[in-house]
Amino acid sequence: MDHADIDLANLDTKPFFETQVKIAIDILNSVYPETSIYLYTLGESDDFVLKDLPTNGHQVSKTISSATQALTETLSQNEFTSIFIKNQENREIFSIQPEEQSEYSLLTPISKLGNMVGFLFTILPHGRGPSDYNQSVFNNLALSVGSSYILSDSLEKLKSRSNHLSLMLEVNTHLNIAATKTDYLFEISRFGKYFIHFDRAVLVLHPEETPEYFSVDSIEGDETGLQLGMSYPVYKSLVSRSIITGQFFIFKQSHAEQPEGIYHEGDIEEYPYKQVIGFPLSKTRNGSGVLVLESLDEYDIKQSQISIFEMISQSLGAALTRFSLYERLNNYATIDTLTQLYNLRALKQRFEEELARAGRYQNSLVVLFLDLDKFKLVNDTYGHLMGDYVLRETSQIIRDTVRTSDIPGRYGGEEFVVIMVNSDAKACMASARRICSAIHERKFTMNDVTVDSRVSIGLAEYPHDGETMQELIQSADAAMYTAKKHGGDQVVKYEKGMVPKSQA
Ligand code: GH3
Ligand code: MG
Ligand code: MG
Repeated sequence: MDHADIDLANLDTKPFFETQVKIAIDILNSVYPETSIYLYTLGESDDFVLKDLPTNGHQVSKTISSATQALTETLSQNEFTSIFIKNQENREIFSIQPEEQSEYSLLTPISKLGNMVGFLFTILPHGRGPSDYNQSVFNNLALSVGSSYILSDSLEKLKSRSNHLSLMLEVNTHLNIAATKTDYLFEISRFGKYFIHFDRAVLVLHPEETPEYFSVDSIEGDETGLQLGMSYPVYKSLVSRSIITGQFFIFKQSHAEQPEGIYHEGDIEEYPYKQVIGFPLSKTRNGSGVLVLESLDEYDIKQSQISIFEMISQSLGAALTRFSLYERLNNYATIDTLTQLYNLRALKQRFEEELARAGRYQNSLVVLFLDLDKFKLVNDTYGHLMGDYVLRETSQIIRDTVRTSDIPGRYGGEEFVVIMVNSDAKACMASARRICSAIHERKFTMNDVTVDSRVSIGLAEYPHDGETMQELIQSADAAMYTAKKHGGDQVVKYEKGMVPKSQA
């Protein structure tokens, strides 16, 4: 890329913000696929305007007045956090009839420098309520969207001021579109070399958990004198000082005064690079790391080059925080929020892994398929909250009854699957019967109301009853359906000729 290649007049910060919003909404969709998520931003006349997103349905109004009860409540908070609202009490938000509306929505403010500039509006499906959702997931994502808002906005204001700032903007836009750490480092080395000449770039990270060490996270260039993944004490070196103070450093070999070390005490003795610049990832003391640029020759460095790299490194710091947040959220998406068991996606993944292992080592593998009997009655008679309570308690019973090596998951609404490895069908049959009778004997009591629950369980064994995940689940499902036909509240082992309900 050459200076002249950049079309200064048409620099655009929008993709940057929009990409952030898109990433955030994609994540929410993968964590809570059953919800509908909308984005509103502050419009001209204090109203909030619906942003056109590919995921938009047609349940909500295009504009929402800030005088709406839900918004007055949100705006009156000292610190903006998400709130659950009752849809019936906020009808003006919806474009559909009250009888089509579900019970709850979650309103998550996006703030910029203390002002609310927009919000995510998440409609929960029928029968779901506040206890099914983790508000901090929404708050964290709104925080990350909010900070990208600030950056794109202030850069937009600055961009006409100078060539130099336009370049910064261009770089920043590219960097922030990177959705993974690898993309990000690739972009840095691609763009960075255009601004500062360096022969090696090293990213060191300073984890919060072990503040007395930093580690070499990535190396762009040869690894002489360093080792990927190596930890060094935060002690007597230029990199350490930069971590501690939050200030950048420049080292030149020709300089009279020699530091005690670059990365660690004494490494200066055999250090091949003539010039080193270190940019902390945040300007705070004891920050999250330093981006170190090393070069084989010394040259003059301009203030403008430094400020570009200060921005790049801070932007990297913010991105790393974002990536680790996304990683946590992705883990989150493997656990079903109601039951704390593996969700379907994670269950299938574990199933495939265990099946491959069983095939390779000729281990046994047994699948249980559980379906609660007449569960709809519980909901219809005592309400969804009672139903949810029974599902949570049932999950706990399953967890407590099986071995720790067994893998229980929520297959669907009131259906569970347990993958049992390394034990024969007989032992698994006994385990399944224990689950069945533990549920039978339990009195599920919530708010002085007690209900009984029963379960039908089908059992299938690899490879006898099926060789693939699909075949095994189908066989276990067919055995479960046979158990239901025999009155439920029992365990049935698959036999040839049994069919699942869908084929009956
Ligand atoms: P069967 O004995 O044939 O299994 O009858 P059933 O009523 O259990 O079966 P059916 O599949 O017809 O109904 C399952 C019900 O489970 C439907 C729905 O109301 C309820 N359900 C599914 N997911 C949830 C949930 O997350 N919470 C609550 N409370 N109920 C749920
Ligand atoms: Mg069912
Ligand atoms: Mg059922």
